[in-house]
Amino acid sequence: MTRRRWIAERWDEATAAITGAQAEHFARVLRGQPGMHADVVAGGRVYHAEVAASSNAEVRFNLLTEIEAEPSLPITLVLSIFKYDRMEWALEKAVELGVSEIVPVIARRTERHLAQSAEKRAERWRRIAHEASQQSRRSDTPMVHAPVALLERIRAVPRGTRLVLAEQERTTTLRAALEAAQSAGGNEMPTIELAIGPEGGWAPEEEALFDANGWTAVSLGPRILRAETAAIAALSVTASMLE
Ligand code: SAH
Repeated sequence: MTRRRWIAERWDEATAAITGAQAEHFARVLRGQPGMHADVVAGGRVYHAEVAASSNAEVRFNLLTEIEAEPSLPITLVLSIFKYDRMEWALEKAVELGVSEIVPVIARRTERHLAQSAEKRAERWRRIAHEASQQSRRSDTPMVHAPVALLERIRAVPRGTRLVLAEQERTTTLRAALEAAQSAGGNEMPTIELAIGPEGGWAPEEEALFDANGWTAVSLGPRILRAETAAIAALSVTASMLE
């Protein structure tokens, strides 16, 4: 797990401070105390820091050591295979947005001819990921897994919070689910897995399987998005909450 980062409002060479809502969250909700360690972003650099003083109005940190900026976010995109040109566009954008792993999956409604040629396409997806990493100046290339049957991924051992994007979901928004994961994780930044369905959406038995295996169905709003739009929107919302 990556430690959650606090973006400083004020800083100098050796200290930094957060105020307002951030300070209140740190001090009151997370009960931040002097001596506690945290990662602090100050002027675009990330530091390992120690709390010097903490109140609901202001938390002050001593900056200890600079840590290398992390190249990717702890997000895995489980992407159903859909029409290649659109899927490849989504893949490229996902890399730009900082995803660390992409798992192409064959869903019930993945078109048959696409499913059959997926294995051969994986090399091309890796090349796209590599080029997108360079283009967006990432210092790593996300891992693009070999395509697997959706079922296998649904049942895989969980490594964090698992969210399945579903246009029929009406109560839980992606944002609310991420907030819940963040407060459950306290000072730790949770690892997030996001599953996006194919053009035809999830089959009812797939939805039931997600549910039975501990995935949470989440919504991006009442409009139905194309799969590639849903992927980019979901990643943007998640990245904005993690960074
Ligand atoms: N079944 C739909 C299309 C599916 S959209 C139809 O009626 O044509 C493809 C995928 O994008 C979905 O499986 C889901 O993962 C995601 N998606 C699209 N709109 C969404 C929304 N409003 N909220 C959450 N996920 C959405």
